[in-house]
Amino acid sequence: MLFRWIDHVLSLLLPDRCVGCGQLGALLCAACRRRLVAYDGEPPRVADQLTGVRVAYVFDGPLRQAIHQLKYRSRQRMARPLGALLADHLRTHPLPCDALVPVPLHPHRLAERGFNQAELLAREVAGVTGLPIIVGPLVRIRVTRQQALLDTTGRIENVAGAFVWRGPPPPARVVLVDDVLTTGATVNACALALRAGGARDVYALALARSRRT
Ligand SMILES: [Zn+2]
Repeated sequence: MLFRWIDHVLSLLLPDRCVGCGQLGALLCAACRRRLVAYDGEPPRVADQLTGVRVAYVFDGPLRQAIHQLKYRSRQRMARPLGALLADHLRTHPLPCDALVPVPLHPHRLAERGFNQAELLAREVAGVTGLPIIVGPLVRIRVTRQQALLDTTGRIENVAGAFVWRGPPPPARVVLVDDVLTTGATVNACALALRAGGARDVYALALARSRRT
C-alpha cells in the first residue's frame, strides 16, 4: 500500500514518460503506438452467448507493459491513452451498440485494487464516442480463481454463474468492455447474465489478446 502511494505521488511529480521507450512527454508515445500490432480476425470463441467478439491489438510489447502498469502498478492515468486506443478501434470498426458495460470485478477484488481497469477504459471510450456506460447492474457475485491459472474447461467452469444482472432491463445492444481477453469465458458468462436481464445482442470488445492462448 505504501509502495502504491509513493508510486502515485511520484507519478504526479515526474513528467510523463513512455512505458515503451522511456521518452518524455507521453505515457505511450506516438512511435510506440505505431508499433502496436492489430489483432486480425475474430478470436476463437469458447461458447455461444456472444453475438461477436472484437479485439483491438495483440497483447505484446509496449501495450503489454502499459496494461501491466495500469492493473498492477495502479497507474490509473494509463487508462486515458489505452481508452483512446480502444475508442479509435471502435470508430474504425463500429459495432451496433446502445451502451457500454465494463466487465465488473468482484467487490473484494475492487476493494483490493481500488479501481476496475475495465471500467476506466470503458469510461474513456464513452467520453470519446458519446456512448452511454452502465456500471452497477452487472454484478460479479462469486470470487473466482485467477483465470490465468486454469485451462479452457477450467476457465468456463470457474466463471459459470459468476455474474448476474440486477436492475432495470439493459438496452437491446450492449458492448462488454474488458482490458485483456483470453479464452472469452469471462465475457461469455457476462453475456449470459445480460441476456437473462433482457439484452438481445451482446458483443465483447477487448483492448488486447495474446496470440499464444
Ligand atoms: Zn515510446
